[in-house]
Amino acid sequence: MSGGAAGMETRKPTLREKIQKLRLTFLDKLPDMILEGRGMCGRLLVAPGDAKALDDLFRAFHTIKGTAASFGLNEISDQGGIGETLVTAFRNLSPPERAETAATVVGELSAVLDQTAGLVTVAGDGEVKIDHETKVFFSVKDEKDGFPSKRVFLCDDDQIAGEHLIAQLTCFGYEVVPYSTTDALRTAVLANAPDAVIMDIMFPDGINAGTEIIDSMRRELSSPPPVVFLSARRDFDARLRSVQAGGQAYFTKPVKVTELVETLDVLTNREEPDPYRVLVVDDEKEVAEYHGLILEEAGMSVRLLYEPSAILDVLTEFRPDMVLMDMYMPTCSGRDLSQLIRQIPDFISLPIVFLSNETNKVMQISALRVGAEGFLTKPIQPDDLITAVAVRAERMRTLRSLMVRDGLTGLFNHTFLSQYLVTALATAKRETKRVSLVMLDIDHFKTINDSYGHPAGDQVLVALSRLLQQRLRRSDMLGRYGGEEFAVIMQNTGPEEARLIVDGLREDFSRLQFQAGERSFSCTFSGGVAGFPDVPRDHLMEAADQALYRAKRAGRNRVAGVPAEVRS
Ligand code: GH3
Ligand code: MG
Ligand code: MG
Repeated sequence: MSGGAAGMETRKPTLREKIQKLRLTFLDKLPDMILEGRGMCGRLLVAPGDAKALDDLFRAFHTIKGTAASFGLNEISDQGGIGETLVTAFRNLSPPERAETAATVVGELSAVLDQTAGLVTVAGDGEVKIDHETKVFFSVKDEKDGFPSKRVFLCDDDQIAGEHLIAQLTCFGYEVVPYSTTDALRTAVLANAPDAVIMDIMFPDGINAGTEIIDSMRRELSSPPPVVFLSARRDFDARLRSVQAGGQAYFTKPVKVTELVETLDVLTNREEPDPYRVLVVDDEKEVAEYHGLILEEAGMSVRLLYEPSAILDVLTEFRPDMVLMDMYMPTCSGRDLSQLIRQIPDFISLPIVFLSNETNKVMQISALRVGAEGFLTKPIQPDDLITAVAVRAERMRTLRSLMVRDGLTGLFNHTFLSQYLVTALATAKRETKRVSLVMLDIDHFKTINDSYGHPAGDQVLVALSRLLQQRLRRSDMLGRYGGEEFAVIMQNTGPEEARLIVDGLREDFSRLQFQAGERSFSCTFSGGVAGFPDVPRDHLMEAADQALYRAKRAGRNRVAGVPAEVRS
């Protein structure tokens, strides 16, 4: 491996280096495997009917064939294949035939082992070959809670409208820097590029200035920020000119802030999907690691499992989007393991894909029959592996989200949240940690529907969900609990802290302006907070509900906790 030079700064090894290391580990292990192979040959010579020796020998050659191919050691893989064929043919003979040919076959097998040993000594110096560079599906997210605030430059000559927009965008966690002239904007953008630019354009001068700014950004910045145009004009020509100028979005005034935020989120990549979670089950450590590395390099989150018997705990805890499973493992076959998984209702739809050097169609079909999603044959090109996994993981994600998410807001639904609360409380009790439950309810929502129409009401629901999603931490679970009721489960958070967080959100929400035709309106919510262990597990929901009721009765637009005398 490279990196032996003195005085070198430490850097992370590249994928190629990591795979090279695994390859060397495999080559290091091979002499022992060959030695064991010789031992089994010896046993066959004494007892040609020794089924266990035959099984072990078959598995040894099968492993050599598959693993060597994964690491680009094709000649060694070929020897493994020859050994595998010899063993299979010998196995199929009748006992007398076996006794008769044992000496010859063992001689042939020994020759294969000799060849393999010879290849091992020369292979150590070779470089690992990866035919394709792996595609990156997701950038790997940092672990920090919540979203970092994004900077937006806003150029608007209408100061009042500008200030209004700034106030609204700030509520959604954007940091907005205003500029009143296009010249000032151009200088600022080129000096220190923001995450996005919003320009209010007056035709025709404004659009010309916009075109020019976009052009100079493209010339001078390696990754120019997206530009969103705002304009009073709604006609085709204005929209066309904005597209031609290079604008990535176009909004007519008065701007619907929720829609603008949604667009900004997409343009600035705030809505980064969680990486796919893939469980790799393979008794062979190097092979599992090899596939794991490739998937990790593509931005997926990978868990390796070498011991099939631990799978139930791992499934429950890791919640993979899919399982990549070896077909041959000493303790149990992939086929049995997948059947076992399928018998558990929670995992009935979990995609399982076999990865094996099994080219036998009959075997493949029998595996598919017990519920495998597909079959990948080793060695597999990194790109093919990534695509095969991503497609299935995505499907699982969609399915799962249809089951647990609310259609309008995309938040978790009542059923899922209730289940989650039970788990969160069990964990909190076990680890003596705190959990807070917050119930939110929009104030006089019926009146909003009645006065501005149902779609306007929906807009409010979506805005509140987005606000909560963006401003709460990643560890906070957020759900739509009923029509205009929301619930938040905050782990490791006491009720007083939770109340303060939600109260801040309440204030920001009350500042949002909603648009219904020509009319604008705002609205508020009330909240109730209860915390475990102050309140016992079984009463937490009821206590949060009662706190909410008290907030309503006290005049709405406030967040109430559980009074001291009620706590345990
Ligand atoms: P309070 O301040 O006491 O909570 O008064 P409220 O009017 O908000 O409470 P109430 O429970 O009487 O009314 C809730 C309303 O929410 C009634 C229902 O029409 C409306 N609603 C429920 N789901 C939706 C939805 O998905 N979209 C819209 N637009 N309205 C909904
Ligand atoms: Mg309400
Ligand atoms: Mg209600």
